[in-house]
This record gives sequence, C-alpha cells and structure tokens, in this order.
Amino acid sequence: LNRRLAEFGTTIFAEMSALALRTGSINLGQGFPDTDGPEEIREAAVRALRDGRGNQYPPGPGVPELRQAIAEHQQRFHGLVHDPDTEVLVTAGATEAIAAALLALVEPGDEVIALEPYYDSYAACIAMAGGVRVPVTLRPHEQGFRLDLDELRDAVTDRTRLLLINTPHNPTGTVLTRDELSAIATLAVERDLLVVTDEVYEHLAFDGGHVPLASFPGMHGRTVTISSAGKTFSFTGWKVGWVTAAAELVTAVRSAKQFLTYVSAGPFQYAVAEALRLPDSYFDGLREDLRAKRDLLSEGLASAGFAVHRPAGTYFVTTDVRPLGESDGFAFCRALPERCGVVAIPNAVFYDHREEGAPFVRFAFCKRVDVLQEAVARLKSLA
Ligand code: PMP
Ligand code: GLN
Repeated sequence: LNRRLAEFGTTIFAEMSALALRTGSINLGQGFPDTDGPEEIREAAVRALRDGRGNQYPPGPGVPELRQAIAEHQQRFHGLVHDPDTEVLVTAGATEAIAAALLALVEPGDEVIALEPYYDSYAACIAMAGGVRVPVTLRPHEQGFRLDLDELRDAVTDRTRLLLINTPHNPTGTVLTRDELSAIATLAVERDLLVVTDEVYEHLAFDGGHVPLASFPGMHGRTVTISSAGKTFSFTGWKVGWVTAAAELVTAVRSAKQFLTYVSAGPFQYAVAEALRLPDSYFDGLREDLRAKRDLLSEGLASAGFAVHRPAGTYFVTTDVRPLGESDGFAFCRALPERCGVVAIPNAVFYDHREEGAPFVRFAFCKRVDVLQEAVARLKSLA
C-alpha cells in the first residue's frame, strides 16, 4: 500500500458489519435500511432490465432521463436551476462523486478543510488526490454538535483550495442552519474557495428543511453539490449518485469520473429517474417514518443510560458513553456485541483529533421498529 493510503486500513463499516455477522448481533453500525425502497421503483428497475434499457454502457454523464429528473428535483425541492445536459453528472453513488470531485479539483499540496468528525471516505479521497486535510471540529452543545465559525475562518490559509461540507451531517446528525451556511458561503466568496457539499441526507432534516449551500449568493459557480439515491430511496446497493454544479465544474469532475468507473448502474438509472418524480407524500413519509424512529431510539438510548445528542437530521444518533462509566468508544464498540448483541460505530475513527471523539458512539435508526425495540432492550441490560 502506498504512503498516501497507508493510514487507512479497512473501513470501520466493513469491520463492524463483519463483527455483527460473526456474533449474530443487531447491526446499528453501518448505515443501511433493513427494508428496501418502494416496490414500484424496484418494478421500474425490473422493467428497464427486461426492456433492454441500460444493459449496455449508458452515456458517460448518465442517461438523459435521469439527468432530466435530477434537474427537476433540484428545482422542485430547492429552487435550483440546472441544465440537465451540462450541469448534471450521474456517478457510482455519492462515494464516486466525492472521489471524482476531489481528484479533479485538488492539486497536490492543496489544503482541504473538512468538518470533523468526517465521513471516512473524505480523508482517503483527499489523500488520494495528494491534498492536505485540515479538520475543523464540531463540538457538542445543547443544540447538538456545532461548527465554530471563527475556527473555520482561522483554518483558511493561502493554500486552502476547497471546503468539504456535509449537511445534514454524518455522524453527528447536525443540520447546518441558514446563518451558518450563509457564513460559509461568505467565506468561500471572500477567500475565493471551491466548495464540495455532500447533501446525501437532504430529505432527512427533521426540524425545518435542509438548505443547499448552492442556493446562497455567489455559490453557483464555485459549488459542487453531491447527492445519492441510496438514502433517499433506501437502495444503498444500487449505487446511483449525482453531482450538480456549474458546467465548468461538472466538466472537471467528469474528467476524473470517466477514468474511475466511466459509467455504472445502467438499468437502475432509469428506475431512479422515476423515483425522483415520486409525489411529495413519498418524501414526507420517509422523513416522518425516520423522525419517529429517531425519537424511539434516542429515548431508548437515554433510558439505557447513554447521554444522547438528538440528531436534527440523517439516520444516525450520536451518544456519549461516559455516563455508563466508559471513556473509550472504540473499546466500548468492540466489546458491545459480546456484552449484549448490538453493533455500533465509534465516532473516534472520523476524527484526526481522536481524543475529541473518544467518548462518542453512533447508532443507526434506519431499521424496523421491532429491531430498534429489541436493540434498546438489549442495551438496557448494560446498566
Ligand atoms: N456521504 C455520506 C455523508 C454518507 O453517509 C454516505 C453513505 N452512507 C455516502 C456519502 C455514500 O453514499 P453512496 O452510498 O451513495 O456512495
Ligand atoms: N455511509 C454509511 C454509514 O455512514 C456506510 C457506507 C459504507 O459502508 N461505506 O454508515
């Protein structure tokens, strides 16, 4: 393994899902739903396969039906206007979009500012691009984990190329407020920075809506917005993601993307085009379902003795294990399957400043109610 990747090893999601299988535990670690997305969308994928749509290489930027549907979705939910031919790119999940954006936009030695804790692929992709990651830590407050805007401003140097933002934020569940986003946008404009914003949980903001960074003044030409069908439609295995940005940025990201996968998921692209056009009731229903599950798991974890940072978005809840007499979330997660048959993720792996993340542990609530109830019952036995 080369020096750029040497520090990364196996992703925590693979490690913890393997541990869940080995011990027969309830897996609240890796974030994937235990119920598949809508039947009619699965049928749409079957139809595409059967009718021979997408069984051969689809067009490099994605099938026109899907690019059109993505542009319509951005307009319908966010009032953002994108030309489906030049300002939309379909990718192999958000994961490829992140990789291609960083490989396309970062020069070796450029600094990339990322919110810490950060989704694990950010660090690896910054490294593969030869960039230098500069974490800005979200710290726990009454209102969840918050960004210190002064710290963000101070982190920008003459070598900063790009801000890598994620809202709603995995793993903390923080949804950046309009004021925070506005300050980030102002900073990007003042210091002439590019912004890559990962908004895969755009439909999972529970208390007031999600606001895309691209909607702020001066941001259209400098923002690469990333989303995915995995979370919004509960098809994480399909790996259909997308980028929306100004034409020049989309062209740049596409230059990298064409040599990563070129294309992917042909028939599924047609199905996701239909999914994006589902009525509002679908999107509202998903959010309400997960809001109820957030409440169920948050209350259950609190009654089991955890300090709970109730998330405003995503399908993860971050807890603090110190009230249980523990201080090391990593050791806690490694022992948890044997102790009570539940798997969770130690947030420390998402930090450069490991000590900042040490006591925090993430649980996923994108699971059936009976599964969440059983997990809570097991966790209560810890006390
Ligand atoms: N970004 C974030 C913040 C995520 O949580 C995830 C997956 N859980 C991804 C990107 C990857 O998305 P995809 O599965 O579409 O590649
Ligand atoms: N994004 C998912 C999570 O945070 C996992 C994705 C993966 O396994 N790489 O749990």
